[in-house]
Amino acid sequence: MSTETENTVTVVRNYVDGKFVDSEGGGFLDVENPSSGRVIGKVPLSTAGDTLRAIEAARKAYTGWRNVPAPRRVSYLYKLYNLMIEHEDDLARAIARENGKSMPDALAEMKRAIENVEVACGMPIHQQGENLIGSAADVDGEVIRLPLGVFGMVAPFNFPAMVPFWFIPYAIAAGNTYIVKPSEQVPFTMQLIAEYVDEIGFPPGVFNIVNGDRVVAETLIESPAVKGVSFVGSTPVARQVAKRSSEFGKRFQAMGGAKNHLVVMPDAHLDEAVRNMITSCYGCAGQRCMAASAIVCVGDETYREVIDRFVEASKNVIVADPLSASVADEKMVMGPVISAKAKDRILGLIQDGIDEGATLKLDGRGIVVAGNETGHFIGPTVFVDVKPGMKIHRTEIFGPVVVILKSASLDDAIRIINEHEYGNGASIYTQSGFYARRFKLEVEAGMIGINIGIPAPVAYLPFGGMKSSRFSDIKAQGTAVINFFTEDKIITERYWEDEWKSDNYR
Ligand code: NAD
Repeated sequence: MSTETENTVTVVRNYVDGKFVDSEGGGFLDVENPSSGRVIGKVPLSTAGDTLRAIEAARKAYTGWRNVPAPRRVSYLYKLYNLMIEHEDDLARAIARENGKSMPDALAEMKRAIENVEVACGMPIHQQGENLIGSAADVDGEVIRLPLGVFGMVAPFNFPAMVPFWFIPYAIAAGNTYIVKPSEQVPFTMQLIAEYVDEIGFPPGVFNIVNGDRVVAETLIESPAVKGVSFVGSTPVARQVAKRSSEFGKRFQAMGGAKNHLVVMPDAHLDEAVRNMITSCYGCAGQRCMAASAIVCVGDETYREVIDRFVEASKNVIVADPLSASVADEKMVMGPVISAKAKDRILGLIQDGIDEGATLKLDGRGIVVAGNETGHFIGPTVFVDVKPGMKIHRTEIFGPVVVILKSASLDDAIRIINEHEYGNGASIYTQSGFYARRFKLEVEAGMIGINIGIPAPVAYLPFGGMKSSRFSDIKAQGTAVINFFTEDKIITERYWEDEWKSDNYR
């Protein structure tokens, strides 16, 4: 991958049963570098048949893998961990190239992916059960945590490595076998991971990749041999995946979209808050499920002050191809959005905001990056005079578009957040412990930040939203996800009293 030039068109392959294989003929989709709009690869649109072959390979591998001792299973993950660290830069570069995020953002993504492997390596401890010796007369009770079989995951485009790694290492470490369907818009990073898995020599069928679109996802959901599916993507699809998975009796995780609010209280430390908000709103060009996209200012003065400072700071964001030599290490570089289609959708929503009467205070339309004229760039865009419920407030724009609202009080700000459809993350900037405590207890969002713009938890903690941001009980990441990948069996066993009494060796 590192030897490729921008003009190389790479054909992505599936990884099934320990081998790189071609799809049986579902055709190909072009993969673009969003910074240039140039085609850099072709991804197979795998068929149901391709997917069923991967499921069969994973099913066969399961019998052997589940019986591999837990410490030996994680020894493969330690090797993957080391290779991911060794190739962190290559992986980040692959992410920056196919997704368009900046190198610091791509490296941060890799760190979190690697951290998830590290947590999963603790599986010989995490998977331990419980027991109650003497749960009744001559009876012991025991809880054992067993793997279930074949699991699959369907990934979004915005985190080509991190999101799949919320699941992969835990599933495998627990003794299951796995099939990943990367987003068809960003298949290269997982291709590199498959190369490392191949080099390590995981037993064939334990880890598989099937590239493609919804056909692969639907086949995973419908196959009786697949025990569970983890989906991360937009809310309409998450809702549908949840419904279909229930119909097919699957375990499922279904994470959806977001519209994350940042509340600024009059006592906030504004220098720090604005710096923090800029990173949250424009990192990954606003295409993060934890990106803030709505700022709620409490009081007239806070509103005026935040608008002035935030708009000025937005103008300093460098919009560029993240891999151009001049910006590679810059902290606040913003790359393109993922595709021409995404850009058109975002431009349409900006027009909707103007039409519904919000004031476009900073207009990122029409930005041109010299040398990358065909890239899908949009500059930082800020709306003020936004009322709760306007389309630009209701909708997940998923681009560098920020709406600023005013509220009369903290109560009012909390109401605005709680009445919103989404509840992934929400943050407050304040120096008051009282405001902070009320916020964390009363706000209906799964992940709360106190003076933190992107409250995305580390891999040692669970990750997941509320309301239309998540349609399943069990969260991703950390020890929470181990419940998803294991079945508790509860054993009640009685001693044989006669044997006990006749034991001559006591
Ligand atoms: P998307 O829903 O368009 O696609 C996600 C995946 O679903 C892709 O792999 C796609 O091929 C597949 N897919 C598409 N239609 C399908 C269908 N009908 N049935 C089954 N699978 C289908 O999402 P995206 O545009 O790739 O990703 C961006 C979205 O993901 C945003 O809404 C973002 O908020 C969300 N996201 C959420 C979280 C979270 O933790 N809540 C994390 C990351 C991204």
